[in-house]
Amino acid sequence: MSEKQVAVIGAGASGLVAAIECARNGAETTLYEAGHRLGTKILKTGNGRCNLSNSAIEPGWDFKGYNNPEFVQGALGELYCAAIRRFFESIGLLTFEDSEGRIYPVTNSAASVVEALAWECRRLRVYIKTDCKVHGVRAANDDDRERLGAQGDWVVTVDDGSEAIFDKVIVATGNSFKVPSRLGLPIDSKSFVLGPLATSGNATEAMDGVRIRARVTLRSGGEVAFSDTGEVLFRKYGVSGIVIFDCSRYANYGDEISLDLVPFLSEEELATDLEARNERYRMLRQTSKALLAALSGLIHGQAIPSILDYCGVDVDDPPKELPVDDLAFALKNFELTIADLPGADNAQVTRGGVSTEAVDGKTLESLGRLGIYVCGETLDIDGACGGFNLHWAWASGLIAARAACSS
Ligand SMILES: Cc1cc2nc3c(=O)[nH]c(=O)nc-3n(C[C@H](O)[C@H](O)[C@H](O)COP(=O)(O)OP(=O)(O)OC[C@H]3O[C@@H](n4cnc5c(N)ncnc54)[C@H](O)[C@@H]3O)c2cc1C
Repeated sequence: MSEKQVAVIGAGASGLVAAIECARNGAETTLYEAGHRLGTKILKTGNGRCNLSNSAIEPGWDFKGYNNPEFVQGALGELYCAAIRRFFESIGLLTFEDSEGRIYPVTNSAASVVEALAWECRRLRVYIKTDCKVHGVRAANDDDRERLGAQGDWVVTVDDGSEAIFDKVIVATGNSFKVPSRLGLPIDSKSFVLGPLATSGNATEAMDGVRIRARVTLRSGGEVAFSDTGEVLFRKYGVSGIVIFDCSRYANYGDEISLDLVPFLSEEELATDLEARNERYRMLRQTSKALLAALSGLIHGQAIPSILDYCGVDVDDPPKELPVDDLAFALKNFELTIADLPGADNAQVTRGGVSTEAVDGKTLESLGRLGIYVCGETLDIDGACGGFNLHWAWASGLIAARAACSS
């Protein structure tokens, strides 16, 4: 058992787990948190339910749900979904898997996840310092050791000017990169992912609030960069929903998103369906109402005017025939151009942070600053929706803590 003095900076998902694991390994652990409460961001996750892992993370999985699959696979080792569920069980929090492999607490409450983590920290006598923003960490010298009356290699300085000395420091500051940057760790540039996409023009304006299960294909530089089927939520400004959040991880300004709004029909089936609708439309005397009625039952009513507009059809001046070919094309290839990417205010995850090349791939220890470990979102790792980001946060907290206490 180690008797090290360890500082964990940041009491979010990765920092709370790291603090627990350090204390379990016998370290005297101090947990610094800038905010007033522990685990504030965890409370917002999974719409307040906390989707904390995903059963896809098991032996044999390809880790392609992450931006840097090889690094994540190498670092996680055996820390698959089952291991994270066992960790939570060990702190009294039971979990369940939904039909899509997402793991939630049985309470369906993110607050109970924070409670369980916080109580375990208290039970293990982790020294918790809230409202305590760390300004920086620097190498200790003999003067520091004498002045602070302790051995150790790293001095943690808090914004109020107070200082303390530690053997090891775990940086778990989420998407705030000031502490690692002041330590001189290389930082990959910051961008925001897992958020809605604004699109140019007003093609989605009248569809605000409509949800359609669609196949989403993103083209970037002429190549298909992303393709998946899921519920698209149309907004005045563009598109949202889980499949769009996942798409945002690959999107650039000006890229085209193509939506297949009827993925349940093949092109032939759609052509047959539209011919039958055209027959009914002819019998309904080609009025504006008939035009809208002809397509209802195939696509959400609020979306029909936008789709007709996309085909160049004026609802107030209905044509004699349904433009079957144009409609078939529009329904299978409703194209939107990305005008804006997610930002700090509406993205779930920050890409960028400490470069994975600057840390040991097994221990997450900084290669240039021995004794400093980096975990969670502070490292340049991001994953898809579905519990992959929190899985990385908990698991990397465990990895950093185990390494900090064993070396
Ligand atoms: C709305 C929303 C929903 C989400 N839902 C999910 C989901 O369901 N499933 C999923 O897998 N992921 C989800 N995520 C992503 C997930 O929340 C993050 O990946 C995860 O919280 C990252 O954990 P972390 O410990 O790295 O950072 P954080 O949880 O952000 O914790 C960092 C902590 O460090 C503190 N801190 C920062 N700087 C300092 C400093 N200088 N001194 C002291 N303390 C400091 C911060 O106050 C913060 O408490 C969601 C994110 C959002 C925003």
